[in-house]
Amino acid sequence: MTATETPATTAEDLLARVAVPQGREIREPATGAVLGHAPVQGVEDLDAAVAAARAAQPGWAARGHEERSQALLRMADRVDALAEPLARLLAREQGKPLNGPNARFEVGACSAWLRATAATVLEPQVVVDDGTTRAELVYRPVGVVGAIGPWNWPLMITVWQVAPSLRMGNAVVVKPSEHTPLSVLALISLLNEELPEGVLSAVSGEREVGARLASHPDVDKVMFTGSTATGRKVVESSAGNLARLTLELGGNDAGIVLPDADPEAIAEGLFWGAFINTGQTCAALKRLYVHDSLYERVVDALAEVSRRMPMGLSLDEDSVLGPLQNKQQFDVVARLVEDAEQRGGRIVTGGKPATELGELFFPITLVADLTDGDPLVDEEQFGPALPIVRYSDVEDAIASANRLDVGLGASVWSSDPAAARAVAERLQAGTVWINSHGSVHPMVPFGGVKSSGYGLEFGVEGLKSVAVPQVISAASPTVAPTA
Ligand code: NAD
Repeated sequence: MTATETPATTAEDLLARVAVPQGREIREPATGAVLGHAPVQGVEDLDAAVAAARAAQPGWAARGHEERSQALLRMADRVDALAEPLARLLAREQGKPLNGPNARFEVGACSAWLRATAATVLEPQVVVDDGTTRAELVYRPVGVVGAIGPWNWPLMITVWQVAPSLRMGNAVVVKPSEHTPLSVLALISLLNEELPEGVLSAVSGEREVGARLASHPDVDKVMFTGSTATGRKVVESSAGNLARLTLELGGNDAGIVLPDADPEAIAEGLFWGAFINTGQTCAALKRLYVHDSLYERVVDALAEVSRRMPMGLSLDEDSVLGPLQNKQQFDVVARLVEDAEQRGGRIVTGGKPATELGELFFPITLVADLTDGDPLVDEEQFGPALPIVRYSDVEDAIASANRLDVGLGASVWSSDPAAARAVAERLQAGTVWINSHGSVHPMVPFGGVKSSGYGLEFGVEGLKSVAVPQVISAASPTVAPTA
């Protein structure tokens, strides 16, 4: 480094901005080392953040779309400028590796979503213009948005909630997951460099802070991403404040491999559909139904891909799979796999904790010969274990896919586009992918049905969800009003 160069910002620098000497201890899932301490804020801090948001929101709304879009673009620049330290902090706190569809990918998505949201326009809609009346549907900011997030994709999901909210002129109070607060606080501190005081804040606290945010009388909209159980509590809270809700909840996505699929060609797509973020993804493939005629070939091809995907420490450049983020989730996966084995499930790969890697590592576990009703099939595992179920009649596979009370995503795998489409139309899920699973795009609406939640994120629909519609109905001055 020459005398004129400033040292590059590191993950430690970002951490130093947000960590506190005493607070909630955050350990790195991969190594168990203490990463730092997160502030433990309480409901009084939350109340103060909501009051500041309420005060700041009108001024932010008054800036207009163009200015707010420009601010989002500058936020994206800031994320890009510190992408590497952000990714390293995320990797250490969340556990996901740097490479593969993991930490660097997630930070890249934050910037991509900020840019796409800046460029998305929600035009007023003329709904009637008949010579006597001109009625227009316009969208106003909803006010103060409460954004409550999970620990699996903490940065990306925060941006999914924050970017459209800010774009539409709202102020936002973020409640990060208590498992991954530090990287979210670091992200918010970067975004705040482009925002007036009070418009965006994060309150790092325990679950009661989330509960207070959801029920706060001065919160107008809650964007909640997390489990279905907590989502139900958010719905109950909304009876008090009548907050509008977007609920992105749990899922148990089914994939159906039709008899004409090519097992070797689809294996890698199936693998990442199931195991992106080491399976800790809302819309991951969580149960796979494969036609009897190619069942063993699909199992073998998936096993072959699984064996060559390296799992390891988050900061190891070779890893593309990492640990479970927390002990609670590790225990869920371990319990479901053990149960599946006891029920006669055939463990094709994995099966036992990968203790040689660390306390929270569980290897990619493919379990064949399970059936509907087995807990690994029916419950959301949210980790690196995939049940593979055999079917012989596609009607049965469709019925299996639809039989659970969740409907986030689903997929159909086939070499015949028309056959795949016909099956896709019959699946009860917010998104059905054909020959892929789980890919999202900033312009393509995303949301669940049934107990996976309601409301849409992304694109124009996503902007509508953080706005309130208003009709402006103008009578022609030459026409007398009716009684
Ligand atoms: P969780 O429900 O335990 O926690 C989510 C957030 O809610 C946390 O910030 C938590 O502090 C907060 N919270 C806790 N109690 C609350 C209450 N009473 N009111 C309001 N907020 C409260 O979920 P998790 O374990 O962090 O995340 C995993 C789950 O999230 C999985 O089921 C997964 O499928 C789901 N998920 C869904 C999506 C989606 O887009 N549909 C995306 C990611 C994760």
